[in-house]
Amino acid sequence: MVSEFDLIKRHFQRPTRHTELGVGDDAALMRATPGCELVVSTDMLVAGTHFLPDDEPESLGWKALAVSVSDIAAMGAVPKWALLALALPQPRETFVAAFARGLFACADAFGIDLVGGDTTRGPLNFCVTIVGEVPQGGALRRDGAWPDEDIWISGRPGRAALGLAQARGLTVLGEAGRADCLTALRRPQPRLALGMALRGIASSAIDVSDGLLADLGHILERSGVGAIVDVAALPRDGLDRCCDDAELVRDCLLAGGDDYELVFTAAAERRDDIDLLARRLGLPLTRIGSIADEPAGTLHLREADGSLSVPARRGYDHFAP
Ligand code: ADP
Ligand code: MG
Repeated sequence: MVSEFDLIKRHFQRPTRHTELGVGDDAALMRATPGCELVVSTDMLVAGTHFLPDDEPESLGWKALAVSVSDIAAMGAVPKWALLALALPQPRETFVAAFARGLFACADAFGIDLVGGDTTRGPLNFCVTIVGEVPQGGALRRDGAWPDEDIWISGRPGRAALGLAQARGLTVLGEAGRADCLTALRRPQPRLALGMALRGIASSAIDVSDGLLADLGHILERSGVGAIVDVAALPRDGLDRCCDDAELVRDCLLAGGDDYELVFTAAAERRDDIDLLARRLGLPLTRIGSIADEPAGTLHLREADGSLSVPARRGYDHFAP
């Protein structure tokens, strides 16, 4: 049977880019950039909660790191280093090799060094800690939104949640968009270039992991404001074609998680800058509502006919009854 140390050496030790000393010592030495603040975040992926036990390990490796890159993107920062804590029921080398392939594909795509971690026996579980950098004072935070500002979302949200509904057997998606939705679920693309470009433009930002309304709600709470979301403005191109259950599509758009798109706010004067940015990045950026001078966290939906309602569901909550 392969030893813990062989497993680490074979699959997790790679040349590094911005690291003095990486995997293999008691701790890592990272070369920090003068004038930058460090940005740190950690995320756990637990079998049965965040992924299905028979999910393909290469995609799990990608996703384990990609969700952390997304947090760094939402701060307008640049990811540089990651640590991986891994619990495995048995040291199955084919599984670890495939997981590492996916993880390093993501690390290479975003210029990240894996600098350490921990490997132990236990119920299947991955925990990634990511460290990034942002010029001092430049981070995008959740607490910067102001009344009358626009609310924007990147990309084409709702697909990952539709993909999950398909994977769980709750719906059968049409051929047209099925692969697209499953890829959105399994290989999320963190919006790193967007996050960095929004420094100085956006007043607040968050990445959508638990649901558009749920995560927008965090901005509203932290900023002490309310919001109105225009349901008709949500980018739904192609979604209706791959799923004829209009109720499910609406729920996936408003409260579906796992898309890792960015929701951000900006003053109306920045609309042209943001449209330009969308063209430069080749990424749709859609204005979906506005911040309201209301008690912290107040959220209303505006339907196509102008009527206002309180959303029945905002997103996913691990501790909801
Ligand atoms: P220690 O006993 O000093 O904590 P370990 O034996 O746990 O060190 O780990 C040896 C080295 O391998 C350390 O540099 C650690 O950061 C690294 N490491 C352990 N597991 C992983 C992993 N899954 N991914 C990346 N690095 C790892
Ligand atoms: Mg040690």
